[in-house]
Amino acid sequence: MSITREGIHPRTLCSIAPPDLLGRLAVEGDPRQREAAVRALATSAAIRSQRAVMGYLNRQLNVNIGKMVGFGVIPERRLTIYDNKTNGRTFLPGVRARDWGEPPVKDAAVNQAYDGSSATYEFFRDIYQRNSLDGAGLELISSVHYGVAFDNAFWDGTQMVYGDGSGRIFQIGGLTRAVDVIAHELTHGITELTAALIYSKQPGALNESFSDVFGSLVKQFTLNQTAAEADWLIGEGILVPELGTALRSMINPGTAYSGDQQPGHMDHYKDLPDNNDPRNDNGGVHINSGIPNHAFALAARAMGGYAWEKAGKIWYTVLTTRLRANSQFNEAARATVDVAGTLFSSTEQDMVHDAWKQVGVLS
Ligand SMILES: [Zn+2]
Repeated sequence: MSITREGIHPRTLCSIAPPDLLGRLAVEGDPRQREAAVRALATSAAIRSQRAVMGYLNRQLNVNIGKMVGFGVIPERRLTIYDNKTNGRTFLPGVRARDWGEPPVKDAAVNQAYDGSSATYEFFRDIYQRNSLDGAGLELISSVHYGVAFDNAFWDGTQMVYGDGSGRIFQIGGLTRAVDVIAHELTHGITELTAALIYSKQPGALNESFSDVFGSLVKQFTLNQTAAEADWLIGEGILVPELGTALRSMINPGTAYSGDQQPGHMDHYKDLPDNNDPRNDNGGVHINSGIPNHAFALAARAMGGYAWEKAGKIWYTVLTTRLRANSQFNEAARATVDVAGTLFSSTEQDMVHDAWKQVGVLS
């Protein structure tokens, strides 16, 4: 598969499990953790090409992926949940488990995926007037019970996929329980169809950070929390307790789980190679995302109130109108400062600038 700046990039899978955590457990974990981690890494790797190809078709060739795979043609159908029944990739999406508008079913994972997708859809529609991921009402397809005790959740370029967790890395049932995890993954769909940030080094860390930003905002919106009230954690309470409390902390990067190496300042930026070692995380995309995450949380707290009203709107505008595939931290920072002035006033502009200054991106 060829790689171009705007085109197909074979490593653009974002799954929720931090690859450096899986990579470390695969090498250093106990036998049960090692087995679960290797399985999660192997399955996730197989999905990467598919997601890149689907994103490319939709973005570059204007092929409606929803229609091409047979979904999304019915207006007003916002989402549908399928049960993969532990069959894995060849059985996606699986058996229809809950249709749009239908009442809850017995299966908690089905209902959680339904509610989380719906909350994400409503957030982008009501707050930023965006009609689904593509802005044109793309139906949100989700499959739960993917694979056997699979320790990951991901957007594959056409749909959301959730494993059940093995109880060795993720808690059983944990991956559908956190609305910020669902919103994080769905935001990758928006990024792929707008800025299309490549999934490597700084553009990849920005890609990850935007998913954390809107993942956290959907959670805050659902809980009606202000920036001061929010915990700024991603995936709180879904890892097994001995591994840690969450996947990431936006307000205090590097403190979410045991071995969390996220920096919160450019002084601690990790210049990692983009190779096939999951511990290097595509050049640190889930690691260095701590820096722009921290800038967002600081800006949102400084502005006060609900974070989606000012900081979120600035970041959303930058993601969807100002960035390109190869944008670096510095470019994203300058764009947010610029947009803060356009949308609001010099007060907000100064607060955004100061946040990026505190994390060492702007001077
Ligand atoms: Zn991600």
